[in-house]
Amino acid sequence: MYQQNINNYLHQYGFESMRLKAVLFDMDGVLFDSMPMHAQAWAEAARQVGFDLTAEEAYEHEGRTGKGTINILARRCWGREATEQEELDIYEAKSRVFNSLPPAPKMPGAEEVLSRVKADGLKIVLVTGSGQLSLLDKLNRNYAGYFHRDLMVTSFDVKQGKPSPEPYLMGLRKAGIQPWEALVVENAPLGVRAGVAAQIFTIAVNTGPLPDEKLLSQGAHLLLPSMQALADAWPILYQEMR
Ligand code: MG
Repeated sequence: MYQQNINNYLHQYGFESMRLKAVLFDMDGVLFDSMPMHAQAWAEAARQVGFDLTAEEAYEHEGRTGKGTINILARRCWGREATEQEELDIYEAKSRVFNSLPPAPKMPGAEEVLSRVKADGLKIVLVTGSGQLSLLDKLNRNYAGYFHRDLMVTSFDVKQGKPSPEPYLMGLRKAGIQPWEALVVENAPLGVRAGVAAQIFTIAVNTGPLPDEKLLSQGAHLLLPSMQALADAWPILYQEMR
């Protein structure tokens, strides 16, 4: 059922076959339905400094570091880079709005995906651009028993955020595996680009408001409409990739 997607992937990178050993999960928009809050917080913080950023455009920057997003807006709206102080102030304003919003709910279907992946004996790796200090606590509260400190890549581990392949390459290293032994699960265009650049089979789950084309044009090897759809597809997908 997914053989054509797999063959296209293998051909693209010149790999012989897949032997799945781990799944690399993005967090926001994949494990948590948190993107509406992040987008709202970005739009509000941007408005305070005169950036013309809509919540919808914020989805297109998902995966960038805060600094990366702020400088794209500063160049566009101010015609110059933001100073380091401005970067700090704007990011703090964004965080303040975000933290005032209710905590993000778990993404429907995500726990079922994790449970199936774990039952098949695969490693579960987190690869997020987030830099929340209590990340592991939050994950363990919501998804007990799936995540481990030594299999997490966060903004503290990398120099370049997505769309650089660096976070996903580091995820492979931490799991001790090769690109054809992994899967990436991503919801954002820049995250898809990062997974594809790391030469990993990248599944885009379109959990947000962007058109599918935004994810496909970044090279997603398979597009699904939700995490529940991935949970439903998992048994066949795994059979064809093991
Ligand atoms: Mg995401």
